[in-house]
Amino acid sequence: MPTPAILGIPFDAKSSFLRGAAQAPPLIREAMISDAANLWTETGVDLGAEDAYVDSGDLDLSETNAFGEIETAVEQLLEEGMRPVCLGGDHSITYPIVRAFSRKYPQLTIVHFDAHPDLYDEFEGDKLSHACPFARIMEGGLASRLIQLGLRTLNGHQREQAARFKVEQYEMERLPRADVLNLQGPVYISFDMDVLDPAFAPGISHREPGGMTVREATHFLHAITGQIMGADIVEYNPVRDVDQMTAVVGSKILKEIMGKIILST
Ligand code: MN
Ligand code: MN
Repeated sequence: MPTPAILGIPFDAKSSFLRGAAQAPPLIREAMISDAANLWTETGVDLGAEDAYVDSGDLDLSETNAFGEIETAVEQLLEEGMRPVCLGGDHSITYPIVRAFSRKYPQLTIVHFDAHPDLYDEFEGDKLSHACPFARIMEGGLASRLIQLGLRTLNGHQREQAARFKVEQYEMERLPRADVLNLQGPVYISFDMDVLDPAFAPGISHREPGGMTVREATHFLHAITGQIMGADIVEYNPVRDVDQMTAVVGSKILKEIMGKIILST
């Protein structure tokens, strides 16, 4: 059975508006193993069973080479046959994570949940900003398909970038049926918590109304086909949270993603 490995990446130095996401990983874990709920997923997987998943702890990142250290840590987990599930951190971490994945899986399909396309060529002079990871991934040829779900912040530049990189974009106003994505081969899920409506997940840096319900997001996760080789859950910002609501939602997304990975032989 595939084994998901949780890896905390406490990094928010590339967040353009607010810091705080670096504090997220232990809080998502804590919410998941809380006595408030059991560890079964909706898909019937018991994450409380022995060896269902491993927890690789949180990275202790340097200030000078954080991206290199993230890439190396993910590569090590992949070499051990694990399926890494990284807890951010801001969304910039997806670039070094996917660099590691692309060496093992050159034909990667990325399913990206987000209010924002994160396709800026550069943002405020920074090409590694959390507004840019998917521009770096696509120009580097690190994924063969990029599917973005839940967008509601497109502007002219990012529409041009999407056309240039042939990104399959589904705006919130025109969400497709979950079964039309036709996903095959190795799949990577990048889940930005702000894809959800801030009513369900207020603990984020960029509140963008008009987003998915937790049920809509869970429905899309459950419908993903292909082999899910790894994932990230990013942009939970505890500083902005209300009564741990967003930590609980993040832990639900983590559980359902790990359940899908375990079923994804
Ligand atoms: Mn994002
Ligand atoms: Mn976002």
